[in-house]
Amino acid sequence: MNIHEYQGKTVLKGFGVAIQEGIVADTPEKAVEAAKELQKQTGTGWWVIKAQIHAGGRGKGKIKGTEQRGVALAKSLEDVKTISANILGNVLVTAQTGEKGRKVNKVLIAQDVYYPGETPTKEFYMSVLLDRAKGRNTIIYSTEGGMDIETVAHNTPHLIFKEEIDPKVGLRDFQCRKVAFNLGLSGEAFKQMTKFVASLYKAYEATDSSMFEINPVLKTSDNKIIAVDSKVSLDGNGLFRHPDLLALRDIGEEDPTEVEAGEYDLNYVKLDGNVGCMVNGAGLAMATMDIIKLSGGDPANFLDVGGTANAARVEQAFRIILKDPNVKAILVNIFGGIVRCDRVAQGIVDAYKNMGSINVPIIIRLQGTNAVEAKKIVDESGLKVYSAITLQEAADLVTKVLS
Ligand code: GDP
Ligand code: MN
Repeated sequence: MNIHEYQGKTVLKGFGVAIQEGIVADTPEKAVEAAKELQKQTGTGWWVIKAQIHAGGRGKGKIKGTEQRGVALAKSLEDVKTISANILGNVLVTAQTGEKGRKVNKVLIAQDVYYPGETPTKEFYMSVLLDRAKGRNTIIYSTEGGMDIETVAHNTPHLIFKEEIDPKVGLRDFQCRKVAFNLGLSGEAFKQMTKFVASLYKAYEATDSSMFEINPVLKTSDNKIIAVDSKVSLDGNGLFRHPDLLALRDIGEEDPTEVEAGEYDLNYVKLDGNVGCMVNGAGLAMATMDIIKLSGGDPANFLDVGGTANAARVEQAFRIILKDPNVKAILVNIFGGIVRCDRVAQGIVDAYKNMGSINVPIIIRLQGTNAVEAKKIVDESGLKVYSAITLQEAADLVTKVLS
């Protein structure tokens, strides 16, 4: 589960990570109030207005149809109001949102932290994530912050460093010092960075997160180290331990069909293709997606109805797949182990009839317990469905109905 920048920063601050302070607002008037309050708290005279959406690249992104950036500097309260009004309620398009963009409902009014001073400011990159191949949490960091890390990795891979954490002993002090050293810091900034790394890692572990990405981490001109941005991904499987974090969920940022599928406990991920699929078991679902690819189609979704799929769940799954207008065919691939094939078949037939006119062809492969009865139900239903026995037959049918 992803959360907004302002929420992520609040979580980090709770663990002692130094952040760029800010106050969130949902109207231009409240934005001005937030700016005044922030001035009182921090003494800042300039502010950054930051669109809050679950996508990065906001600094370069633009509000649809205008030149307004998703992150912009305000040098007066008047600026705060104008910029907030330009952003709020409008659609922000960034490299990560796709052309459709995302509607912005909140802006973060943050203190300006790029003020001039005794030393130059410097932007770093830092993330914490689980390296699954190694089975270890890893801190990835770079001197080249503030820009697209994929570009840095491509052009100057030697400027990206990794620090693996041994789960038996956790993050050690010497590792924090190594990070600060590799980032070329000394004196007060060096000390601040070791503290930053330690508290960031503590926050990552304590929240059961799957990824933290702080880009940029800023060294201010007075040698403070602070998080200017925060991308926090919480592990959905750990959320039952953190009701306070679960409360940060913003359903408006999620795919509506995926939200609905979640309500029925269906494991659904929307994809961009044209063949919908309904499968029981994640492994079989992956294999089915491969089959669709090999037969010239593209999967429109991943959908695991689970091992105990009953007729009602199948019907719900069917409805969810059909919400996607790109779906040109549906492949049902169910292995009847615990779930009986005849029940699944009845579920499909009922859903099909209940839903009125469905004009996409459906290919059904039901194997296992009561497969013969299931085929009979499908064949006698009078519906426009194709039944297959083997995976190859199913694949050939996909090719046939798409051509
Ligand atoms: P992203 O583009 O979605 O990753 O949003 P960020 O939070 O990383 O902000 C984008 C850019 O805005 C940063 O890389 C900075 O260059 C700039 N920025 C952020 N905060 C400030 C600030 O306090 N003052 C100034 N002048 N620029 C800032
Ligand atoms: Mn950023």
